[in-house]
Amino acid sequence: MTSLRLITLRAAACLCAFLCALTACAYDEPAAVRLRFPDLSLAFDTPAFAPGKTDFTSYEEMMAFVERLTERSDSATLRIIGESQEGRSIPMLILTNARATSAADLQRLNRPIVWLQGLQHGDEPAGGEAMLAIANALAAGELKPLLDRLTVVIIPRANPDGAARFTRRTANSIDINRDHIKFDLPETVALHRALNEYQPQVLVDCHEFSVHNRWLQKWNLINAYDVTLLYATNANVPQELTALADELYRARATAALEQAGLRHYWYFTTSYDVADKRVQMGGLAPDIARNTFGLAGSISFLMETRGVGIGREHYERRVATHYIALRSMLETTADNAARVQATVSAARSRIAEARAGDPIIVTAQPRKGERDLAMLDPVSGEERTLTVAFEDTLQPVPGILRPRPYAYLLPPSYRDLARKLSLNGVRVQTLRRPATLDVEAYAIVDKKVAAATEEGHVHVAVTTETSRKNVRFPAGSYIVSMAQPNALLAAVALEPESASSFVAIGLIPVDKRGSVEGSPSEVPVYRLTAPARLPLAIAEF
Ligand SMILES: [Zn+2]
Repeated sequence: MTSLRLITLRAAACLCAFLCALTACAYDEPAAVRLRFPDLSLAFDTPAFAPGKTDFTSYEEMMAFVERLTERSDSATLRIIGESQEGRSIPMLILTNARATSAADLQRLNRPIVWLQGLQHGDEPAGGEAMLAIANALAAGELKPLLDRLTVVIIPRANPDGAARFTRRTANSIDINRDHIKFDLPETVALHRALNEYQPQVLVDCHEFSVHNRWLQKWNLINAYDVTLLYATNANVPQELTALADELYRARATAALEQAGLRHYWYFTTSYDVADKRVQMGGLAPDIARNTFGLAGSISFLMETRGVGIGREHYERRVATHYIALRSMLETTADNAARVQATVSAARSRIAEARAGDPIIVTAQPRKGERDLAMLDPVSGEERTLTVAFEDTLQPVPGILRPRPYAYLLPPSYRDLARKLSLNGVRVQTLRRPATLDVEAYAIVDKKVAAATEEGHVHVAVTTETSRKNVRFPAGSYIVSMAQPNALLAAVALEPESASSFVAIGLIPVDKRGSVEGSPSEVPVYRLTAPARLPLAIAEF
């Protein structure tokens, strides 16, 4: 085959894959199924719904839309929070009726700040489109009165490179929504720099889920739900935040969805392994946005509509579903502004003021049971109930518990890890002078290395034992006090057995055997378990 012909064939294959993604050729939806998901006729005036438009909103259309919005409205301000790997600006809209737009001024307004983010996954466009409609409605439409009681910050497209390719991942093929502890990606760094400035009380991360793919392969069924929702489920998230998310936000959002005739459930998924017939509720890992935001002491939701794999089918309904649930969450925040602020503020204080010795849940497992899920026959569209082995994460079963230290210490060489912690709003300090301290050290007693990389890292599962010892820390060693609101984010990154820890993802390399024959190896992270007065300086990055 000539190289020219090969190139042509490759180009044709590429084009086909692209068209498949846009036109759902993997599963051709029969009319009987299509009829089950009618439009809601909310008449959006965002780019994807312009007359004659048959594809999704392009990057240029999205940027033009947000620029026009800020030109014609006093309530909307546009900020660029950073650049994607391919140099696309990542826009952020700030919606307020106050003159102030700086983060500090907005916090002084004493109104809750709600953060909406879309398109961490580039092939899940409905949430980002709904956010453009929400921005319009806040600036000059039905939601404008809410701006007397809250501030809204919107990131409509967190992954502009993925969206330009219509792929889940970023330009270097990494998943942003597994990067909220390890910070490999400029997109995640930009998001968290802005988050640290605005410190929102309520966050909603919008996605779309697979309609057929794995459900069709494993059970010959397709997903029947319009939308799945889940709040932060990491076992360390303060209980009062979970209660407010469940009893106030989820209750009102699901009532609004039901009123519009939309079917909802807890967010669930299943693996790509066809032989694996288990179904999991959204997981416990600290490094997904929903959990990272919850660990920071915020009310945090994941929301997903049925969208992946069906191209532009039912796009109006998918965008409307996001719009209805987001509108409900904004109204809930406005109607309960004082309660939301007081609860979040108390939760953050409780994290900062928890006693040393209180347990940190280092590992936890979902509860195993059985559930009935609503599915559809892929051909007839008839209702089917799928009974599956289901892993529930609402009340996780704790595994390893470890007493909370006063602080963690890291050697001066781990500057990059200290910087990653600071990107999660963790205050990091340094030792001004050398100090010998009585600390707990971790010894590796077992280590299992994963067979394949995951998100660019070889995952390592370790078992450690802690023991007391005197360690001399040089000047410049990093100290992370637990007396701070983002202490939980430090703990999940530094406790070696934690699923997203710096040890687990290989950022702190460890061996099972130490330098002395037969001795276990030591993790260069130390726990200060007694209060100490230390000469400290703020770390600079
Ligand atoms: Zn997603």
